[in-house]
Amino acid sequence: MARNLEPKCKQCRREGEKLFLKGEKCFTDKCAIERRNYPPGQHGQKKGRLSDYGGQLREKQKVRRIYGILERQFRNIYKTADKSRDITGDTLLQLLESRLDSVAYHMGFGSSRAEARQVVRHNCILVNGKRVNVPTYLVKAGDIIEVANNAKNQLRIKAALDTADNRHFPSWIEVNVKEMKGTFKAKPDRSELPATINESLVVELYSK
Ligand code: SF4
Repeated sequence: MARNLEPKCKQCRREGEKLFLKGEKCFTDKCAIERRNYPPGQHGQKKGRLSDYGGQLREKQKVRRIYGILERQFRNIYKTADKSRDITGDTLLQLLESRLDSVAYHMGFGSSRAEARQVVRHNCILVNGKRVNVPTYLVKAGDIIEVANNAKNQLRIKAALDTADNRHFPSWIEVNVKEMKGTFKAKPDRSELPATINESLVVELYSK
């Protein structure tokens, strides 16, 4: 399966903000944004003004990078959001947050979305008691997501879950840390998602 192989910290530096792509390191002073918050490359420190189109493009790239999704797949998710009767930008973010890799990440079954995706692919996750190894699987309200018995001893899952527990879980999910099991209560409201994302710029870009 195709994936973005660009180094993760470089992606954050390109966008000029923390995208939290590397798990625990993102919360330490080893984070590249804490040390060198300017775009990578020879001309990275030169300041230039972005055009409207440039701003829209950057925002779209940022959202894609946060969720680790390639262009074609991202556009397909956008098309689905655009067909819905609800606000396109809100629906886009809700669809991204409903993906199994994203839900597994928020439940603490991986320290980053990339790790959670790998955990899903490696058959470590059950949805309503059935093994699902498709990271793009869309979780519905009320679905129960849990770590499969044979994966419960994996140190990376235990460590990620401990960290997530210490940081508190988002309000739209409920997690039983001891049982390594959680419920996706509902799709998140826009107000519960990061204010640093400006999804209306993505909508403007794709509506052209
Ligand atoms: Fe981004 Fe995390 Fe790297 Fe910091 S440590 S630059 S937040 S991926």
